[in-house]
Amino acid sequence: MSIPVVKVENLVKRYKELIALDHLNLEVREGEIFGLLGPNGSGKTTAINCILSLLHYDKGSIEIFGSPMTPDSYDIKRQIGVVMQNVAVCDELTVYENIDSFCGLYVPVRSQRKPLVEEAMEFTGLTEFRNFRPKKLSGGLLRRLNIACGIAHKPRLIIMDEPTVAVDPQSRNHILTGIEKLQHDGATIIYTSHYMEEVEQICTRIAIIDGGKNVALGTADELKKMIRKSETIRIDMPQPAQDDLAAIRSLPHVYECNWQNHELTALCSGGSHNLIRVLSYLQEKELPFGHVTTQLPTLNDVFLEITGKELRDQ
Ligand code: ADP
Ligand code: MG
Repeated sequence: MSIPVVKVENLVKRYKELIALDHLNLEVREGEIFGLLGPNGSGKTTAINCILSLLHYDKGSIEIFGSPMTPDSYDIKRQIGVVMQNVAVCDELTVYENIDSFCGLYVPVRSQRKPLVEEAMEFTGLTEFRNFRPKKLSGGLLRRLNIACGIAHKPRLIIMDEPTVAVDPQSRNHILTGIEKLQHDGATIIYTSHYMEEVEQICTRIAIIDGGKNVALGTADELKKMIRKSETIRIDMPQPAQDDLAAIRSLPHVYECNWQNHELTALCSGGSHNLIRVLSYLQEKELPFGHVTTQLPTLNDVFLEITGKELRDQ
């Protein structure tokens, strides 16, 4: 197998007594969109800053493109594009000038930069705002400018730290499809987020972290197979007798069944036709019911089952 684009081994970072990264391991492969998913405070930004050698760490090693990453690894840094969590643009410069000045850090010849800046504006949908200063842009457009500044020089590795926080749905979709295009064009992307739906939508593989530690790693499907729950069935109905609840609980694959707020909830582990079995029971016992839904596991279920905490709504 080819050399990993980023390899992080046993990374430990302390802020005084607080252990922000606790023997974190990551391996990012060429051409993937690697998701780093974790709640706020789980250490995503700290990990990114260590990977970029912007932060000293206490223990561990970091390699990028097969070489150790140090603060003066300029050859490596030239091939990386960074989109930081906090928008970092210059208020005095226009959209065009901002992208041009960032790109200028990597591409010194102005005439070579022009097509790159135009392409980055086109890519992020900012061409019509080229002469705007950042203060005139909406939150979503500002985020897109932040991205354009980080990718204009066509880096081989792109690191994006929560690029969609607090953006409108239109900008969010623009950003997500843009990231997929960058991957399609050959870039490797590290994408951090606490939004599980996004990570699931675009990431090839996902590392879930919590408290600076690795919780789980895999594709979204692999992660969901790691947990017991495979299906949640919800049925609106009047309160059933305890015997009926017990009977449903004893159906194959059902491992939990409760009734609350006019709704029966049955959690199933594996198997198929679980819904049919539950409904057949209700029909057999002539128990009336209304609205029925079944839901496959989410990455929140994975996080909840492994850590005992909710990932969502943070
Ligand atoms: P995330 O990006 O996942 O939200 P961070 O990496 O920002 O998480 O933070 C990880 C932990 O480290 C948090 O508990 C945070 O409060 C703490 N932390 C982050 N930066 C500093 C700092 N400069 N000084 C002290 N503690 C920090
Ligand atoms: Mg962060």
